[in-house]
Amino acid sequence: MNHIFRLLWVYIWIQYPVFAQVDNWELKAKVMVDNQIMVRGVQDEKVLDIMRQTPRHEFVPTEQRPFSYMDSPLPIGYDQTISQPYIVGLMTSLLELKGNEKVLEIGTGSGYQAAVLSNLCKEVFTIEILQELAVRSKATLARLGYDNIYVKWGDGYQGWPDEAPFDAVIVTAAPPKLPPKLFEQLKVGGRLVIPVGSIWQELWVITKLQGGIMDKESVIPVRFVPMVHPKKPIPE
Ligand code: SAH
Repeated sequence: MNHIFRLLWVYIWIQYPVFAQVDNWELKAKVMVDNQIMVRGVQDEKVLDIMRQTPRHEFVPTEQRPFSYMDSPLPIGYDQTISQPYIVGLMTSLLELKGNEKVLEIGTGSGYQAAVLSNLCKEVFTIEILQELAVRSKATLARLGYDNIYVKWGDGYQGWPDEAPFDAVIVTAAPPKLPPKLFEQLKVGGRLVIPVGSIWQELWVITKLQGGIMDKESVIPVRFVPMVHPKKPIPE
């Protein structure tokens, strides 16, 4: 037993520099993608590659940086979280982006999901309901040089009518049921990836077929922060 314990220590001691410092982030991002996302069945090479190249630690508060590439969601302040890497990889791959799409994201949070999307499509329009997070993610994305992401402080239930229709929609907070405006603002043939539910949530891929018919496919049970309504009206 003691022997196993000592071996474990040696292992942690060797691995520690890889996981605790952020200067080796490209290696950590690669390990994250290979060990957390690929092994769970996400196969889209473009998505995997972009996630290997996206500095996740830049999107989390300083005290969370050592944990940036770990297999879990992390707090980003204001009771919100950046999603687990696997969930980001899975949801992104479910959108089946080809590169020329206009994508709507609801729930900007840290801006990490938007950053991943921005390299896989033409433009990302992302809405965040908390002003502080909208301001912060916009600044982070600008600092890192992302120039095809548009962040708006607003209520995701309304979508972004001025920019609609969208080729794809991704929602990263869970509404109790599908918000009708998000489906309305989706192009025919477009895909909407969304967690739906309250205590029990499921990840859905919704496709808009000819004539506005909805095709729904449930993927896995998930756990997201709730998609909320604004407490006060948000100025236009
Ligand atoms: N995609 C984010 C993680 C999102 S966490 C990332 O990569 O970091 C969910 C976010 O949805 C939170 O920031 C929360 O404030 C936001 N949110 C909740 N309800 C919303 C609504 N109605 N409209 C827009 N954003 C909402």
